[in-house]
Formats: sequence, structure tokens, C-alpha cells
Amino acid sequence: MTHERAQRLQLLPPYLFKEIDRLRDQVRQRGVDIIDLGVGDPDQPTPAHVIEALCRSAQDPATHKYPAYSGLSRFREVAADWYGRRFGVKLDAAKEVITLIGSKEGLAHFPLAFIDPGDVVLCPSPAYPVYHSSTLMAGGRPVPMPLLKQNGFLPDLEAIPKEALSRAKVIIINYPNNPTAAVADLAFYRTVVDFAHRHKLIVVSDAAYTEMAYDGFKPPSFLEVPGAKEVGIEFHSLSKTYNMTGWRLGFAVGNAELVAGLGQVKSQIDSGAFDAVQLAGIAALTFDQKCVADMTALYRERRDVLVQGLKGLGLAVDAPKATFYVWCPCPTGLTSAEFTTRLLNECGIVSTPGNGFGAAGEGYVRFALTVDKGRLAEAVGRLAQLGL
Ligand SMILES: *Cc1c(COP(=O)(O)O)cnc(C)c1O
Repeated sequence: MTHERAQRLQLLPPYLFKEIDRLRDQVRQRGVDIIDLGVGDPDQPTPAHVIEALCRSAQDPATHKYPAYSGLSRFREVAADWYGRRFGVKLDAAKEVITLIGSKEGLAHFPLAFIDPGDVVLCPSPAYPVYHSSTLMAGGRPVPMPLLKQNGFLPDLEAIPKEALSRAKVIIINYPNNPTAAVADLAFYRTVVDFAHRHKLIVVSDAAYTEMAYDGFKPPSFLEVPGAKEVGIEFHSLSKTYNMTGWRLGFAVGNAELVAGLGQVKSQIDSGAFDAVQLAGIAALTFDQKCVADMTALYRERRDVLVQGLKGLGLAVDAPKATFYVWCPCPTGLTSAEFTTRLLNECGIVSTPGNGFGAAGEGYVRFALTVDKGRLAEAVGRLAQLGL
């Protein structure tokens, strides 16, 4: 007896990073010393005060019950306060904030709440793969908005095909951006809010990297723009900011109807994030933010080692203002797949092919700054041997 999977899964490509892990493990089995700059998973531990808060909270039997569907009210209040302090955005914790089991969970469930078969979701390309796959799983039609270097890797809203725009229900933006490391300013967000009002679109803003920025740059929130809260929802994550990828904690904020729609889907599927993890999240958001400054200082040093090294090899990379990614054009004549394959097989370096994030990523590879600077220098040395 064979068990054929549902059509919705047959539409999906294998999850990008699962595939890269498989190829990496094959090379590692040959005994190669691998430098893994693939998936964006911080290598540093979660700050000690957050771990301590989890341990204390997990001892309290009150946390052992089913959590509230929308999240612990104290966590939502803390998230709202944090938005107020960080972005000057006022939020009603009861209606405009929802706890997520990581922001990937929320981003993946959101289309189930607002997308009907045939509805278009305008997705950046290249992009975090979840936007595309969750649209397909909801029966929607993802339409790519190419992020091109000449536009600073911002989508050209005027270039969206009219037919797609007329069926579009949602537009997704993500700044600071994964994988291009591009940043957006308030002027761009104003354009998006205006566009969304004119074309009756929901704006989904993925803000996972607002706290990982360099050289004095402070990434804004899309919700800072007047009128943004009428059209949009923003997804935030503790994963990258506090080295908490394994903990699964994030939140979404913004328009109350959008937050409630997502909450309705979640109440049918999951039963919320472990209260003890949310209490640890409160510690992360409220304690001294020195850990965040230390984290960005570390990534900035690494960025400089890798970017200067790549430039020295003649690759036209820009130093990112935010995120822990370096978006690197392939050497002349090589496709993304060819360059990543050579990096892996001839240098033992894991990178992510740009086209794996969408067709418009062709011609680039992404490096994650998730190893120490000595290993990054070693990676540059191995690359030099390739003789590109
Ligand atoms: C890492 C990442 C997320 C997801 O983070 P969670 O661990 O699910 O909170 C969301 N969006 C982008 C662009 C990311 O890179």
C-alpha cells in the first residue's frame, strides 16, 4: 500500500535547508572539515538571565497547564511596551498583540486566515521560503516581486503585473532582509502603506532582524508610519536577537482584525507557547539589553573579516548594515548552484545558493556569519585557493 501525499505538499519544493544539510553531511562523511555558513542559526548561547528565568518558571506548576491561546497577558504587555520603547508604536496588548511559537509559525499560519484559493500573495524574491510555501498550502497564488540590486533590493511596486495586483490580497515585506541583508527606511514604508490603502492589500511585515544592525543604524518598524496599523501586521521574533532559535518564541502585532484572524487559526491548530518560555521571553525583553549590543558587536567584527576577505578576492560584496548575512555575487561565469557546489566540494564551505530563495536570487550566494572570525578568515583562505 502506498500513501500518496496531498496535492498541497506535491506543490512544494523540499525545504531548502533540509536539502543543504543533506549535502553537507555527505561531504562531512568524507572527513572534510566543514565551515558551515549555511542556515541562519546563531552559534552563541542564549543569555544566562533568560535561561535562569526559564528554569525558575518551569519549577512553578502554574506553567504546566495549557497556555492561553493568544499568549500570556503579561508577555503581550511586555511586547507592547517594548514596541513603544523601541519604535514609539502604541499597541493595545489585549487586541493588537499575539504570542507565536516562533515567528515562522505565525507567518505560516497567517495565509490560512486570509487567503482563499486563487487569491494572490505578493512575495519578495529572493525570500525566506515560508512566504511562498504557506501561500501554496492555503491554496493561494504566490506572485514574486523581484528584489534587484539596482533598487536597493526593495520591491518595485509599480512593476507588479496589473492582473496579479487585481487579485492580490496580501503583500509581504521583510526588512532588514533575509537573504539580501538590505534595509528599508521610513520613506519606503510610507510608499508601501499608501500602496496598500490604494489597492486594498494586507501588509505582512517580517521584522525578525530589526535588532541586528550595525554602525549606528536603527532599523524602523513598518508600524511607525501613520495608517500602517489599518492595513498591516508585523511579525517579530526573539530567535535571532537573543539566540533563542530553539526556544520557539515570537509575536505578531498590528491591526486587531488581522491579529484576531491569525489567533482563530492558531486556536484550531496549536495551544500556544509554553508559559515558562514566555516568562523567559519577558526576561529577554525587559532586562538590560547589553547582550544585544554584545551580539551585534560580535557579528560586526565577523562581517568585516568576511567582507574584506571577499573584496580582496575581487568579489563585489557590500558590507551589510543589518542581519548576519552577506549576500555575495557569484564570480563571473558561475551560477548560484555551481558556486555553492564548488564552495562545498572544493573548500568545505557551506553556503546557500541565492536561487534557492527564489529565481531572482540567481547569481548570488548567501553566507551566514555564524562561525567565529578565525574560521571566517580560514574560509577566505580556502576561497583564495580556488583561484576564481
Ligand atoms: C529566522 C527568520 C524567521 C523565523 O524565526 P523564528 O525562529 O520562527 O521566530 C522569520 N523570518 C525570517 C526572515 C528569518 O530569517
